[in-house]
Amino acid sequence: MQIIDGKLVASQVLEEVKGDIDRLKAAGITPGLAVVLVGDDPASQVYVNSKVKKCGELGMHSRKIVLPADASQEELLEVIRELNADASIHGILVQSPPPPHIDEAAVVLEIDPAKDVDGFHPENVAKLVMEDESGFVPCTPLGCIRLLKAAGIETAGANAVVIGRSMIVGKPMAHLLMSKQSNATVTVAHSRTKNLPELCRSADIIVAAIGRPSFVTAEFVKDGAVVIDVGINRVEDASAKRGYRIVGDVAYDEVAPRCRAITPVPGGVGPMTIAMLMANTVKACRQQTGA
Ligand code: NDP
Repeated sequence: MQIIDGKLVASQVLEEVKGDIDRLKAAGITPGLAVVLVGDDPASQVYVNSKVKKCGELGMHSRKIVLPADASQEELLEVIRELNADASIHGILVQSPPPPHIDEAAVVLEIDPAKDVDGFHPENVAKLVMEDESGFVPCTPLGCIRLLKAAGIETAGANAVVIGRSMIVGKPMAHLLMSKQSNATVTVAHSRTKNLPELCRSADIIVAAIGRPSFVTAEFVKDGAVVIDVGINRVEDASAKRGYRIVGDVAYDEVAPRCRAITPVPGGVGPMTIAMLMANTVKACRQQTGA
């Protein structure tokens, strides 16, 4: 059984990205990422700060813009328009989830698709479906594909089951797996899927993006399957310093012994997301500057 080391693969991606950034900077161009946060949700603050910090480590320009929780939709759109027009910014992301009074779809539509490094704009969604590589693909599924490649997993002809159909993970993951790059046969499961354990037992590759701790148990997994666990769930744990610990969507201890390869949580998909965000920002910079 192979434990797919997301920290290691993410560090390799970041090394490549750093090389690209150094070359761009030598040509007088510094890639720039703007991260917009509305409100003071503690988890979102952690995510935003780690993205800004990573930009600094790589020598990339970053802007962190924090609006108060009661900022209006129009104020947020105005910030995005300003960033769209800012030539020093090549990638823009608005940290999710925004407060409930913000219309997230309208926000995504306002972002210049050329700067939409999260890959949420309909133009980029269309490019993913059309397999037009000039578009931006959401960072987490992009990271999952990179992990499969790094682990030497053959996807061509494999039966893959993706559990979850969100726009952020499940749907783009399914498209990437079925693309002519990966050539898997893909089934997408969700909360209305019948006989899910049986369906999953037919899978050579399972991608779990559900948001339920330890949902995928041993009965879902055939011997020799590859399991990618996207889940990040907090469960109470009195023995942990913070009073909780992070677990995935997969019951790792019982599933791992059956697997050919599996990603742990933490240390699997998680570190890949930020690495692919940096890679997308450099790609956006290259496209916008022609460098
Ligand atoms: P969503 O809540 O948007 O989607 C969850 C999906 O799981 C839905 O499609 C839902 O089905 C499906 N689902 C829920 N319950 C069941 C069930 N009982 N049986 C089958 N399917 C079910 O979550 P996200 O896609 O945003 O995130 C999924 C997980 O991945 C979360 O734990 C999240 O924290 C994590 N995540 C991790 C990231 C990383 O960087 N590693 C990045 C993004 C997310 P339906 O559509 O029918 O409701």
